[in-house]
Amino acid sequence: MSEFRYNKLTQHWILFAPNRAKRPTNFSTSNTTIQDIKSCPFELGNESKTPNELARIGNDKQWRCRIVANLYNALSIEQEPKSYKNGCFENKSGFGAHEVIIETPSHTKQMFDFNVDEFFDYFSIIRLRLKDLKKDTRIKYFSIFKNYGENGGATIHHSHSQLIATPFIPKTTHKALQFYEKYKTDTERDFFDDLIADEKSFKKAILFENNFFIAYCPYASRYPFEITIVAKKNLTSLIDFTDVDIYSLSEVISFCFLKLKSALGKPDFNMLIKNGDIQSSTNSNRFHIEILPRLYKTAGFELDTDIMVNTFLPETAAEILKES
Ligand SMILES: [Zn+2]
Repeated sequence: MSEFRYNKLTQHWILFAPNRAKRPTNFSTSNTTIQDIKSCPFELGNESKTPNELARIGNDKQWRCRIVANLYNALSIEQEPKSYKNGCFENKSGFGAHEVIIETPSHTKQMFDFNVDEFFDYFSIIRLRLKDLKKDTRIKYFSIFKNYGENGGATIHHSHSQLIATPFIPKTTHKALQFYEKYKTDTERDFFDDLIADEKSFKKAILFENNFFIAYCPYASRYPFEITIVAKKNLTSLIDFTDVDIYSLSEVISFCFLKLKSALGKPDFNMLIKNGDIQSSTNSNRFHIEILPRLYKTAGFELDTDIMVNTFLPETAAEILKES
C-alpha cells in the first residue's frame, strides 16, 4: 500500500511506494549494460510477462506500441482516495494509476532512432489512454514522463515511458497554471503567445518550427541542451489533438532527437509531456514538452534553493544543435 505524506517543514508531498523497491534493475555500474532480450518483459512475444494490456497500436501479432499496468506500481486504482490530518502529520492514500508505455517492440531502438511515424504511434496511444483515464473524475493530474539512462533514473533498457495519474495537481504545476490564468486576466493576452513571440525575437535559440509547433532551447534553461516544444495554437492537452496535430508534433520532436543524437551521442535525459489540468473546462495550459538532457547530476545547492546551476547558455546549446 502506498501513500502520500506532506512534509510541512519543507512544504513537499512525498510518495511512499514500497512496491517500487521490488523492481529489478537492468543497470549495473553503467547504462551500457543491456538486459537479455529473452527475459525482457517488453519484447514482442513476451506479452504474458507484463500485467494487463490497457491499449495497443497495431494488430495481435505485430503491435507497434502497448500500454500496460506497471507491475511495480507507485499508485493503485484499487485504493480508496482518502485524506487524513493529525497535528503536523497529513497524508493521502495512494489512489491513482501507474502505467507503462512500451514505445516500440524493438529491444535496441531508442527514442533517438524513432522516425516521424513511430512518434505518431507514441503520441496516439497516449491520447487514447488519456481520453479513457479522464473519465475517472477522481483523477486530477497525469504525469507523463520518460527516463533515459542512469542520470535520467531509468532502470529498464527497453524504450518506454510512464504515466502516473494522481488524485491532486502537484504544487509546481498548480502554481504555473495559476500564473497562466492570471496573465490572461491581467493582460487579456495568452502567456504562451507572448512567450513564443519573445523566444522568436530572441532568435538565437530557435531550433525548428512548422505550422503548429515550435522547438527551442528556452531562455532560462535548467539543464544544458534543454529543449521545449510548444503548440503554437491553443491546444491545452493531447486530448485536443487531431491526427494532423499529432503528425506535426512528431515531425518537430523527431528533428529534436536527431539533433541531440548528432550533437551529444545519446545523452541521458528526462522528458515531460505537460497537459495541465485535463479535468478542468478552463485548462489554462498550452500543450508543451520539456526534453531535459542529464549530462551531470544536480546537488546540494539545487536541493537547498530550487535554483538550478546550468553550465551552458541556451543560445550556445542551440547553435551547437543547429550545426550538428
Ligand atoms: Zn526488450
